[in-house]
Amino acid sequence: MTKQTPNIQPDLVATRRYLHQIPEIGLSEFKTSDYVAGELGKMGYEITRGLAKTGIVATLRNGTSTRSIGLRADFDALPIVEETGADYASTHPGVMHACGHDGHTAMLLGAAKILAERRRFDGTIHLIFQPAEENFGGARLMMDDGLFERFPCDAVFGLHNDPALPFGQFAFIEGPMMAAADECRITVVGYGGHGAEPQDAADPIVCGASIIMALQTIASRNIHPLQASVITVGAFNSGIASNVIPERAVMDLTVRALDPDVRDELERRIRLIAEGQAASYGMRVEIDYERGYPPMINHKAETDYVRALARRFAGDDKVTDMARPIMGSEDFAYFLEDRPGCYFMLGTAKTDNDPPLHHPKYDFNDDILPIGTAFWVELAEDFLSGS
Ligand code: ZN
Repeated sequence: MTKQTPNIQPDLVATRRYLHQIPEIGLSEFKTSDYVAGELGKMGYEITRGLAKTGIVATLRNGTSTRSIGLRADFDALPIVEETGADYASTHPGVMHACGHDGHTAMLLGAAKILAERRRFDGTIHLIFQPAEENFGGARLMMDDGLFERFPCDAVFGLHNDPALPFGQFAFIEGPMMAAADECRITVVGYGGHGAEPQDAADPIVCGASIIMALQTIASRNIHPLQASVITVGAFNSGIASNVIPERAVMDLTVRALDPDVRDELERRIRLIAEGQAASYGMRVEIDYERGYPPMINHKAETDYVRALARRFAGDDKVTDMARPIMGSEDFAYFLEDRPGCYFMLGTAKTDNDPPLHHPKYDFNDDILPIGTAFWVELAEDFLSGS
């Protein structure tokens, strides 16, 4: 596996734990960005900063080939109060690396070092250190700042640690891997009044409840049974007292789909049902529909390529195909809309019941650092091997 890879595990662990101590929320990863840029500077990379504010692209060229590859690590954290009790726990109150982006960044930094020392490739490597995966779509913002025009990549690759997957297991899926995540706020505009005199009011709670129930028919009656969709009404707020009919009711929805056409159909049906239901009650709705991350769709050729590479790297028994896509979302989706590539999972389980991602007791498994690092090196050197 790590045939000629130098033993840099102590450095990797120190890097990961340092990053863990300074977690920062998306688009304000200033300390993290300074640290990453500083490390890359010592390795001899051309460094470009400021894409999506705190994002970094580190470029290394070797040989004469025009081939190029992009490898991405995200480096933002979450608004969670850490409960790991680790001696390297977050020093930023209320902010925590609870998704392992500290580990992703440490692995790509480790790979950066080996790639620069060995220079066993022919072409251009762009290492993409991306902010704001969790909230603001840092991937999209880096593209808005000209990421792929300024740093052309023949293909892009990204990975995520998975504490639910056996240690060292690679998991791949071709085509849709993660869902589009859209949000919708529906405000039912009624007419307030006395709770004992409903005939003189227009009750937005009853209308809102009816809308919520009718929304449940979209997945079951409008979408093909074998196509994935989720509509969750995560919040429904209205009223303050038992004897007062309020003016308004507000509901917030998350809407998920793996297929762009299903995504369009969900929006169309949500609007029709909300408006139609409201009209039947003599009320109206205001709808604020916001498209979030698109579905993340892995490209076939790049998925086949990186899966085969993982088999050679880790052995057939360490490579699996995911049983199904995930209805969560990931802004690497924007990269894959623009460039060929593949996103995949790397198992990091310590026990058979690790705290999940985004849990206050979750902690990135440092034992995976040398494996992830070596795989990035292998991928870049193989992709740019000139053969
Ligand atoms: Zn994550």
